[in-house]
Amino acid sequence: MQTYVPPVDDYRFLMTEVLDFDRAMAELGMEVDSDLAAAVLEEAGRLCAERLHPLNRSGDEEGSRLIDGAVKLPQGFADAYREFQEAGWASLSSSPEYGGQGLPFILQLWLDEMLSATNLSFGLIPGLTRGACEAINAHASDSLKAAYLPPMVRGEWTGAMALTESGAGTDLALLKTKADPRDDGSHAITGTKIFISSGDHDMGGNIVHLVLARLPDAPEGVKGISLFLVPKFLPDASGRFTVRNAMSVGALEKKMGIHAQPTCVMNYDGATGWLVGEPHKGLAAMFTMMNAERLMVGIQGLGIAGGAYQQAAGYARERLQGRSADGSHGPVAIIDHADVRRMLLNVRAFVEGGGRWPVGPRCNWIAPTVTPTQRSAPGRTPSSRCSPRS
Ligand SMILES: Cc1cc2nc3c(=O)[nH]c(=O)nc-3n(C[C@H](O)[C@H](O)[C@H](O)COP(=O)(O)OP(=O)(O)OC[C@H]3O[C@@H](n4cnc5c(N)ncnc54)[C@H](O)[C@@H]3O)c2cc1C
Repeated sequence: MQTYVPPVDDYRFLMTEVLDFDRAMAELGMEVDSDLAAAVLEEAGRLCAERLHPLNRSGDEEGSRLIDGAVKLPQGFADAYREFQEAGWASLSSSPEYGGQGLPFILQLWLDEMLSATNLSFGLIPGLTRGACEAINAHASDSLKAAYLPPMVRGEWTGAMALTESGAGTDLALLKTKADPRDDGSHAITGTKIFISSGDHDMGGNIVHLVLARLPDAPEGVKGISLFLVPKFLPDASGRFTVRNAMSVGALEKKMGIHAQPTCVMNYDGATGWLVGEPHKGLAAMFTMMNAERLMVGIQGLGIAGGAYQQAAGYARERLQGRSADGSHGPVAIIDHADVRRMLLNVRAFVEGGGRWPVGPRCNWIAPTVTPTQRSAPGRTPSSRCSPRS
């Protein structure tokens, strides 16, 4: 398997040459400059390349498994998540008010890109948690925020979103899960959701589901959908979250790829949940999370494309096949064939267009003849440095 080279030089280039990062941070009153940010990203890149990337393949081959009603993640995932969480990566950009580190969101995006490039199954877990935190923060009552946000922000608990049902995917107007009010202010949530990413796992801690459901008096369609916070573990009399809620995994979804990601069919059998936001306005509240996830999905595409590009360019350097263009010798690395370079450059153009891409020494991924002088020439853009003729 090829290794992953974290694109930290590119991030540094963007911060210093494109974004005027230090001035922007000073204007925002944030005590972080590009040197500190680059140091954080170096460390994040090391974690992704050395710890999470090797787990990606074994995780995908082994996959998550459903054993006696509980999801077991592939070997090494739970330990890796604990390290990730304890080192503070889960709370990188979250608000200090709830225990987050409050670093600029752009660092979060770059971390997400590297997570997606190296181990998307893993990266989805903190990504969904962050989106759930945003929705809870924006719409939940103060008591729900106080109880759930600190452990979620620290990454000790994780989040999931439960919208989709077998008869309601693209069009959520038809969803049937119901929420019956109880005297204590909670609701009994009953229904089945499908495709629920990170719906269950064995990493420890609570799993907080944000579930769309209908109240008894709900109008038809999307104007009758409400949002509920439904945790896997409920508080006991002493306030510790030890009581199992009435929710269970019906099955693990079968997917192409990201087999380590526990995408679940979830059954809610009168599970205890609390209303988030106003009755019948749940879809709008859920969109706070969905919009965060949409951004994450965009970054996932960029990360996966960048990671795939690295793998392809690395392979093209190693694979010896065919004769040189003038026919004088062979076999040559397939990157020496012009059409292979064209295809790789095509991929790289998309990746660069999606974010940014190689500057500095990593031009070697695609431009085998780039010279050290050209690489270090000041004031050149990434594209001009890496043109196929350079
Ligand atoms: C890996 C993965 C993870 C997911 N994670 C989650 C999660 O965490 N939580 C969650 O709630 N859901 C999750 N989903 C579900 C996802 O949100 C749905 O797949 C999505 O909403 C589309 O629904 P569907 O799959 O039922 O597609 P369908 O609604 O069956 O649509 C299938 C196709 O038909 C088209 N189509 C449907 N209706 C119309 C129409 N009226 N006019 C024209 N075209 C139409 C759609 O555009 C689509 O191309 C996940 C899905 C996947 C694959």
